[in-house]
Formats: sequence, structure tokens, C-alpha cells
Amino acid sequence: MPSIAASTNYDETLTKIEKLQHSDLPAAINLLKTIESEFDTMSRSQQGQFLVFKGAASIYAGQYQAAIDMLSRSETLLKDSDMLFSAYSYEATAHIALRDFNDAFNAMGKSLGLIERIDDINLKRASYLRLASLYSAMGIIEEVPTYAAKAYALASPNDVKDICVSKLYLSVHQLEIKSYFQAFEEFKSTRSYCESNGYPLIAYIALKGMGESKLRLNEPHSAVSYLLDSLKGYESFNFQLEINSAHELLSETYLMLQDFAKAELHAQYIMKLSDDSSNTMLKHGASRMLAKLNAQNKQFEQAYEYSRKEQQYNQLIFDESKMKTLAYQAAQFNANEQSREIYLLNKERELYVSQQTVKEREYTNMLMFITILLGGLFFLGILLAVGHAQKRKFMRMARMDALTGILNRGAGQELGENLFVQATARGGDFCVILFDLDLFKHINDSYGHGTGDWVLKKVADSLKSYIRNGDVFARIGGEEFAILLPYANEEKGMEVAELCRARIEAIETQHSGHKFVITASFGVSGLMADDLSLDPLFHRADMALYAAKSLGRNTVVRYSEALKCDQQATDLRRYIASTSIS
Ligand code: GH3
Ligand code: MG
Ligand code: MG
Repeated sequence: MPSIAASTNYDETLTKIEKLQHSDLPAAINLLKTIESEFDTMSRSQQGQFLVFKGAASIYAGQYQAAIDMLSRSETLLKDSDMLFSAYSYEATAHIALRDFNDAFNAMGKSLGLIERIDDINLKRASYLRLASLYSAMGIIEEVPTYAAKAYALASPNDVKDICVSKLYLSVHQLEIKSYFQAFEEFKSTRSYCESNGYPLIAYIALKGMGESKLRLNEPHSAVSYLLDSLKGYESFNFQLEINSAHELLSETYLMLQDFAKAELHAQYIMKLSDDSSNTMLKHGASRMLAKLNAQNKQFEQAYEYSRKEQQYNQLIFDESKMKTLAYQAAQFNANEQSREIYLLNKERELYVSQQTVKEREYTNMLMFITILLGGLFFLGILLAVGHAQKRKFMRMARMDALTGILNRGAGQELGENLFVQATARGGDFCVILFDLDLFKHINDSYGHGTGDWVLKKVADSLKSYIRNGDVFARIGGEEFAILLPYANEEKGMEVAELCRARIEAIETQHSGHKFVITASFGVSGLMADDLSLDPLFHRADMALYAAKSLGRNTVVRYSEALKCDQQATDLRRYIASTSIS
């Protein structure tokens, strides 16, 4: 496992190598050698990068097979699209050099597939240009302008070199499609752009293009001057490939100008070149011209010899172009197959995605439904609970007297009836106490209604503690109260009443803001044998209360038969009085 510091150093070195590759190749190769022994300690992606640079260096050194081996090994190590693109395009270059056109197209196809994935716009532009150059090298002229135009479209005004190169490719394309006039104009524009922006070599190539365009336009005089100027330029750069090409064109131009000596000179220059396959085209042209020249000079034997050579080169060119065409067609077929496969895969993916979306939507809908349902149920539950609590509260409120907080008349009566039935059914006793505050009107009149209310509350509060659990304490009228005592006889009732009377009398009133004495009159009645409901007990207690008032108030009176007679006597007196009035 390499240390982080070491792996950082490798990254730095690899970045340096990448830069040097374009400016100082020998320095790049030297730097590669310094880290070669540490290959095993590098990370996978560092190893991949190292192999790409080593592969490129091998191509420059003409070791194409070694380059291909290293590059295909790098492909298994690299994940980064940019570096992979480099690996594929170098591999394609090596295959072209080896005339393995099938493999070249294969590698180009792979690099092409990566371009769209490259995010860095500069790299993408450089990649399109590399593809244009590969297609140009393969003689697939129809593809060149496509990629050159793509690169050109991605260039900003500062990307001078890439603009220069794209312009050149686009100009060359005009020449290749035989629109020579257009070609001349475009080469001219490319030349002036590249020359004024510091790319003289490309400017010389464009100048040669101008010459070739003029030659094809049958203007050999101006062609010669452009071609000679470009040849001079190339020679200053020692750019052999283009020097050779310029010689071939000059030979052709002089032939057209009927300057046979010069034509022969330039043609012979070509014929002296090695039998390298990159020279096949040139030699084919030169042989044809030399055959013509010799025929003109009546050197028929030599003319025949050059004709034979021309045929040989022609066959080579034909074979190579046939191989290229076949490879290209195979690659195209593969690409079509691939794009159809990709199309189908995409369709499948779209279908899958839309199915997933539908599923997701269904799921979301279901979730939403469940949420709404649960929320609804929860809400309903809360509503019910609140409603229930409200109802209970209202029921309690309906049963309670708002001022004193004890039972009201209706509730007291209802509860009392129930208790009465229960008690009597079990043979139990029952006692009713009624009491009425004395001269309460006077309290209201003297101290105000508020003080009256205070008194009512205070009385109820004071007596609550004397009322047993299971007994009933209720306010049954303005200042009238009832105490119902199940399982208690009249004696017990008298005790309770007396306690209450004394308690009321003892109430301190200064907190009301006034000093006065509160008293109440009590009537008590116990259960009698004939009682079938509470009513007779209430009635008797009421009579006892009335008697208590008559006896001077602040007292407890027990119902007795005598009181009953007394009542009858009073009623009779009232009756007589009422009839006598009417
Ligand atoms: P007695 O001793 O004969 O019972 O005399 P009393 O003044 O208490 O009798 P009366 O029935 O003449 O007066 C009762 C008064 O109680 C009349 C009414 O204004 C008052 N009252 C009834 N309900 C309330 C109430 O809720 N608050 C107040 N402050 N006064 C009430
Ligand atoms: Mg009263
Ligand atoms: Mg009263």
C-alpha cells in the first residue's frame, strides 16, 4: 500500500509528464523512466495513467505493438473518462500505423463512445480534433468535417490552436470534396488566422492547400508560388511528411507548366524516399508523372518501368483503401448495431423508469391514502374524545349549579330518587333536610346582590365538608338547599342539620367587605312507612322549615304530626280568607 505522500508525488509527476508530452517529449520520457521502478506501489488509476503515457511514448518511438499492449492494459485500470479517451485514441493511432484498420476503428468507436461523457470542455474539444485527425489519417474524409465542426463549435476565441486546427480540417474537406474554389478561400482564411495567431506550421499547411487548390483549378502559375513558399516553410521546420507532399504537388504543377526538368527533379525526390507505406500515395503520383515525362522524352523503356511501378503502387493504394473501406463498413455496421442496441436499452430503461414512476406514484398515493385515513381516524378520535369530554362537561354543567358548584335542583332530585329507591329496596332509612337562608332579601338589599352571591357560595363551601360521600347536597331554589341522607334516620338528620345550622351561623363575613351574621332555618323529615317516593319527604321537610321560620328562624325543626295539623289549620284559614274576599 503506497503512503499518501508517495501517491501524491506520483500524481504530481504524472501531471508533469502529461504537460511535457506536448512540449518536450524527451523530457517526458525521462520523467516516465524515473517512476517506472515504482509501478507496483502506484494506485490502479496511477498505473493506468502511467501506461497511457508509456504507450504514447512507444508510438513516437515507432513501437506500435508494445504501445497497443500497454494501452489495452491501461484500459482495465482506468476509470476516468478523459484518460480512457486518450488510451483509446492512442491505441487507434498505433493500429493505423500497423495498418490494422479493423482494430483502429474498434478503438476509435470506443473513444467516440466516451466523448459525450467528458465534462471538461477543453478536453472534449481536443478529443473531437483527435478523432478528426484519426479519420483523416484513415482517409474517411466524410467524418473529418463533422468532428472538426464539433470542435470548432466548442472553441472560445481564446482557444486559438484548436480553432486553427479545426479550420484546417474544414478547409481540407473542401479540397477533398473537390470544391476547389471554396477550398482556396478557406485555406486562405485559415492561413491568415493561424499565421497572425502564432501557428506558422499550420499556416504553411494551409498555404500548401492554397497551392493545391490553384493546381486543381488549372492555375499552375499561382500554384507554383504558393507551393514553393510552403516548401520553404516546411523545410525550416524539417516537417518531412509535408515536405514530401509539397514535392509531389510541385512535380505535378511543373508538368502542367511543361517545365519537364523541374517536374522530374521533384518526382525523383519522391522516388528516393523509403518504401514506407505512408509514402505509397506520393510514389504512385510520382511514378505516374515520371512515366509521362519519359514517354514525352521518348524514353519508352523507362516510361514502361514507371508505368509498372505506378500500377504496383496503385494496387497497394487500392488494397489499403479496400481494407480501410471494409474496416470502416464493419465499424459502421458495429456502430449501427451498437446504437440500435443502445436505443433499445434506452427504450427499455425509459419503460422501466416510467414503470418505476408509476409504482412510486401508486406507493405515494397509497401512503397518502393511509396517512389521510390514519390522520382522519386520529382526528375523528380526537373529535370524539373532545366531543365526549365536552358532552360530559356539558352534562356536568347541566347537573351543577353554576354559582355554588353543588348539584342543581333537577340533578339533586334525580339522584335523590335513585338513592331513595336503592335504600328503601334494601329496607334502609332515608332522611331529607331542607334549609332556607334567613332574611336573605335583607342581605341583598343592604349589601348588594354581589354580597348575596358571595353568601350563597360561602354557605355551600362551608357545608360541603359536612356532607358524607353518598349523601346529596343540592341548591333547590334561590337561597334554599336540600341535604338528602340515604340510610340515615330522622335523628341522624337532626344532628346533621344542627351541625350545618351552627356552621352557617359561624361563617365569618368580613371577607365580603361587610360584617353581618348569616343564619338559616332547617326542616327535617325522616322516612315514613307509606312513603313510596321522595315527594312526601320533601313536602314534610318543607313544612318543618316553614315552622322553623315561624318559630323565629335560625333553628332546626323536625316534622311532626302536630306540624301537619298546624298546616291543615293554616290552609283552612287561608281558604276562608280567600273565599270571604271573593
Ligand atoms: P325568609 O327568612 O322568610 O326566607 O326571608 P327571605 O328574605 O330570605 O325570603 P324571600 O323569599 O323573601 O327572599 C329571598 C331572596 O333571595 C329574594 C331573591 O332576590 C334572593 N335571591 C334568590 N336567588 C338569589 C341569588 O342567586 N343571588 C342573590 N344575591 N339573591 C338571590
Ligand atoms: Mg329566605
Ligand atoms: Mg326562600
